Amino acid sequence: MDTRRRITLEEFQAELGAQAVPREDLAFVCPMCRTVQSARSLIAAGVGATFEDVDGQLAFSCVGRFTNAGPPISGKAPGGGCNWTLGGLLRLHQLEVEVPDGPPQPTFAPASPEEAQALKAQHDAGAAKERA
Ligand SMILES: [Zn+2]
Repeated sequence: MDTRRRITLEEFQAELGAQAVPREDLAFVCPMCRTVQSARSLIAAGVGATFEDVDGQLAFSCVGRFTNAGPPISGKAPGGGCNWTLGGLLRLHQLEVEVPDGPPQPTFAPASPEEAQALKAQHDAGAAKERA
């Protein structure tokens, strides 16, 4: 079963825009463990302090790589992440984005607006707890 999609950069940006969340909360789904993750997830995992710090890993390496989550286990509920990265030998991905210059870029697929907003709410709740 090949479910790979190839979309244009404009379509990709439109899917992200539909999430209606700030840049830090734009959410993607790991193709292996189905964990929804954003730049804030990576920041929370200690990858970096700012969006710019984690941008290179976003939608490319699963947040679980940075929390020692281990390999993806089929049947396991998403959320914990896994050690998947699109930079590995197995180029398994479900989405490629066409860019003006160069080969199509593999990427984690954007999450649905509902998933992105739920993840944002989760991070907002966590941040509120830290401030309390
Ligand atoms: Zn994963």
